[in-house]
Amino acid sequence: MFHINENYLKLSAGYLFPEIARRVATYAKENPAVAPRIIRCGIGDVTEPLPPAAAHAMRKAIDDLTKHETFRGYPPPSGYDFVRAAIAQGDFRSRGCDIADDEIFLSDGSKPDASAVLEILGVGNRVAITDPVYPVYADTNVMHGNSGPALSSGGYEGFTYLPCTPANDFSPALPSGKVDVIYLCSPNNPTGVVLDRAALTRWVKYARENGALILFDAAYEAFIREDGIPHSIYEIDGAKECAIEFRSFSKVGGFTGVRCGYTVVPKTLHGASNDGTRVSLHGLWMRRWATCSNGVSWPVQCATAALYSPEGRQQTRALTDFYIANAKLLSAACEELGLKTYGAANSPYVWMTCPSGIGSLGSWETFDLLLREAQVVTTPGAGFGKCGEGFIRISAFNSRANVEEVARRLSVLSPSAAR
Ligand SMILES: *Cc1c(COP(=O)(O)O)cnc(C)c1O
Repeated sequence: MFHINENYLKLSAGYLFPEIARRVATYAKENPAVAPRIIRCGIGDVTEPLPPAAAHAMRKAIDDLTKHETFRGYPPPSGYDFVRAAIAQGDFRSRGCDIADDEIFLSDGSKPDASAVLEILGVGNRVAITDPVYPVYADTNVMHGNSGPALSSGGYEGFTYLPCTPANDFSPALPSGKVDVIYLCSPNNPTGVVLDRAALTRWVKYARENGALILFDAAYEAFIREDGIPHSIYEIDGAKECAIEFRSFSKVGGFTGVRCGYTVVPKTLHGASNDGTRVSLHGLWMRRWATCSNGVSWPVQCATAALYSPEGRQQTRALTDFYIANAKLLSAACEELGLKTYGAANSPYVWMTCPSGIGSLGSWETFDLLLREAQVVTTPGAGFGKCGEGFIRISAFNSRANVEEVARRLSVLSPSAAR
């Protein structure tokens, strides 16, 4: 009999979003009368339509494909030059980061990129992830063989967990031991909190001193509103020697269904082979793309480039402003009930402290209460890691009308609510 990848058997069963879906489906089935009232603020998917500049470019690109003169077949595996140039200029050089066009690798999204990057890294690297964490970083490393079994106390053997709590302002402390690969996400999913320049500088210094690689996920970069917060890890001196950055158009351009993102791999970034030789990750990543992918479709690349046009920029700004305003409405509603919140200012997420006034609810209990009594679907913080216990994530990806309605219904969390 052929063999399967045993690492998959280590994955813990109750993956967060299927469990939420199961509870919502059960509730809806048992309560058909109120089921239509359910508002979903759980999964982080966008709700607003595409920026017109992107849609227009995509339509035009489809027309190109219908005529002999403008037809295009396979794209270059890492993206068309004009798209890579628009990105390198628009997202990096314009902010003082010296990133070359050919250090940008276009893809179908940063979740696939975050997973694919492990293909060019060895097995057995010591991996540090934050707690709470975007589950993809942990699960892909389990699949790759970088962990031991799941622990009954939560998490996996072998990972170094970096607690993020109100006590450290959700900015993780450096590990006491040596790690090889560090995942950082700012603005953060799920907490919505940003890492400041001092924090990122500490991480870059640690990585350089310890020969570690930082995998920096900036999927929510476009939501940063506070001045002085780095938009890219490459704003930190030395990061080009120790960091890969992931970006996605999913949240900034409403591309969750269109599919486009990119990875930055600087040519100055090197890892070690078994005999200690320094090997360029840029070369390995280029080889990986040329071998395993045929790139991103012409209409999607044209739509992506259009996000960098003056109209595109103005439209993505309006789109992200809209979601941030939603997040602020939700956090204001929580704060009015005396529930401390984080995030919101620089992200589309509200990280809410569970009510202690009504019997110190845990995050799944708060989730169930909001589902049963308010028909609002959230995400229990405990699903993102042990340190997420005591919090829930409320997504601001929704229509204004729904957000206003959710803000009203949150009153079921009021200490004085009848129960
Ligand atoms: C939404 C999200 C992404 C984007 O993934 P895509 O595959 O590009 O849609 C990446 N990282 C985090 C933390 C996210 O929340």
